[in-house]
Amino acid sequence: MENNTDFCAIDVGLDDFDSHTGGCTTHLATYLLNSLASKIKSTMLFDYPNLVRLNPSIPWKTRGNGAVALRILLPCEITENLESVVEMLEELIDDYMKKMSIEPESTGIEPGLVVARHTALNGLVWIYRKAVSDIAFIDQDLYLKLSRRGIVFSKRFNKRGLVGALAAITWILDEESDYTYELLTYRSRKMYSRDRCIDENSVKLFDELTRGSTFNNYDYNEDRVLIAPHGPDPILYGIRGEDPETLKIGLHVIRVCEPIAAWTIFRTNQGTDSHAVARTIDSLRPFRTGKIRGVVVSTPKILQGGAVLVKVFDSTGEILVAFFKPSKLTEVASNLDIGDLIEVQGHVKLWNGVQVLHGEKIALLSISRKVHCKAPPCPHCGRRMKRKGIGKGYECEHCNITILNPVLDCITEIHTLSHALYLPPPHAQKHLVKPVERYGREHYLWMFTPIPVASATQIIEPLEFL
Ligand code: ATP
Repeated sequence: MENNTDFCAIDVGLDDFDSHTGGCTTHLATYLLNSLASKIKSTMLFDYPNLVRLNPSIPWKTRGNGAVALRILLPCEITENLESVVEMLEELIDDYMKKMSIEPESTGIEPGLVVARHTALNGLVWIYRKAVSDIAFIDQDLYLKLSRRGIVFSKRFNKRGLVGALAAITWILDEESDYTYELLTYRSRKMYSRDRCIDENSVKLFDELTRGSTFNNYDYNEDRVLIAPHGPDPILYGIRGEDPETLKIGLHVIRVCEPIAAWTIFRTNQGTDSHAVARTIDSLRPFRTGKIRGVVVSTPKILQGGAVLVKVFDSTGEILVAFFKPSKLTEVASNLDIGDLIEVQGHVKLWNGVQVLHGEKIALLSISRKVHCKAPPCPHCGRRMKRKGIGKGYECEHCNITILNPVLDCITEIHTLSHALYLPPPHAQKHLVKPVERYGREHYLWMFTPIPVASATQIIEPLEFL
């Protein structure tokens, strides 16, 4: 990517600025972008802000393991000194924390802030790939190596969030990664403790109007709105889809009973299966995510509580795969037969020291056929003949006749399952899981496009936002 003559492209990574008691890294990102744009009027973006979901099985995540990258175009004379850009961002973050009454020491957050010239990121896609599908660490060597490339780490916000911050800025390099968009709306601060109220019919209308271009708005089987979170965080609702302009329709169609204080559109790896790396069974490790293909080698075992366990084998080994009730995949798993060829994606946990793959999606690729054959009737007396042994044919004890290759009377048992892809109901799908309606709609080409900040984010009620 080329910088134009007046503007230089920088990437800002942010993570772990939220806690169980409130806040959200996307909310901070909204504040930062709007503050930066009012401080430096010429600020532009070269991509929508990125909301990058990372390994969903990381034990220390707060909720959805999301990190944020801001892709900013600033006059090159400002980006010449990246340290001063970092200091400016740190001051804005301090303002945010003060206004939100977040005290890093007492809330236990582990914030990370990192800034890089876009060109300094070449060759670092492995950081994103590792963080989305495994456990990632930044040791002293890597820290020094990245610093020598000119990547600047905040001295103030330099805790565990740096892993997510680096993964977020390197996602853009992953040319194999599909993407979607999410428009997040934010509440007024005074509303955080109140229940959200979103008109159900307006969500269904939005869903109908934008079908094919948005997903996971409403679960028609369970009559349930899917766009609103439930905690005390600042998000009012989030709508997901294939392009930003369609998502903006939601701002006019979805009715809510409180003012929308701000909104931001993120480009994201949500709904893309980016974590479902194809792996062999012998390469699975605790907390790794992935997708395996293998043959069922045990009859499904139903555990107390309803979880279902099956053993799966590939040419490198075997592993227990568990399916849990909320995913409803237990209904599929309990009907698997020995010999079925399946593909399962999920993440690995240890059960008393034994690796178990927690399944979140299953495809039945080939079903085993159970054939039951009866011995043939004797051509003379009509009585059923007896099998003599392998290769020895059938004998009628009554007539003393042996037939080596008789036509057998066989029926093929009908499998209760059919070749298909099985997913949990929409409300039980994790952020990264690709929903059925997205198959065939993947985007692999991302274009560098200058975007005005106001097209990606707006604070509508500045006095209410923080
Ligand atoms: P929210 O979704 O509300 O933003 P969260 O679920 O993203 O919250 P964080 O508070 O961001 O949770 O915590 C996740 C922490 O785990 C961050 O510090 C991040 O750097 C770190 N992390 C994320 N992925 C990995 C990984 N693969 N390996 C090691 N650390 C990781």
